[in-house]
Amino acid sequence: MLLKGYTLEIFKSKCQADARGVHCYAHLEQDVSECLPYLNSVLGGFEFLLDPPAVTFKAQGKMITVHGQKIAVNALKDETEARKIVEWLKNEINHAWAEKEHIQPSTIGMPKPGIIEILKLLPKTNCRECNEPTCMVFATKVAEGAKGPDDCPKMEEKENQKLTQYMGQFNLDL
Ligand code: SF4
Repeated sequence: MLLKGYTLEIFKSKCQADARGVHCYAHLEQDVSECLPYLNSVLGGFEFLLDPPAVTFKAQGKMITVHGQKIAVNALKDETEARKIVEWLKNEINHAWAEKEHIQPSTIGMPKPGIIEILKLLPKTNCRECNEPTCMVFATKVAEGAKGPDDCPKMEEKENQKLTQYMGQFNLDL
């Protein structure tokens, strides 16, 4: 087993003190840097940094970055959710490491969705019914995997299908 344990640090966003939810860091007891290219292949990370190595991907509407000795997860409901996601990641890291002889390692990020492409399919009324201040902010959240076409109640069925199809090209929700 590569990763044996970690210590969780749960905190509120400093830039958005009034925002709901928490962020978390898991400080890892072992350095998992060598496993990151394998984890990237398995989970389809959209960004891979080489020095120092880090892979970022989306899962369950969260943005997750795995560094050599730290995992960062944003927009969590509470500590229970943080523990669940970090424990899942620990298993994924250990599984990728155990299976590394059968996995082609990759340091290349997957293509990302274009915010403007998403915005083109939205009603662009800035009506706020999605609880976002503008359609542009909503488009940014969709690109990050934090919101989906069904979260805009003003979208026509045709546009909803087009957006679903467009987003289906990207590995945003594992
Ligand atoms: S509900 Fe739809 S139209 Fe209204 S602001 Fe949100 S994204 Fe724009």
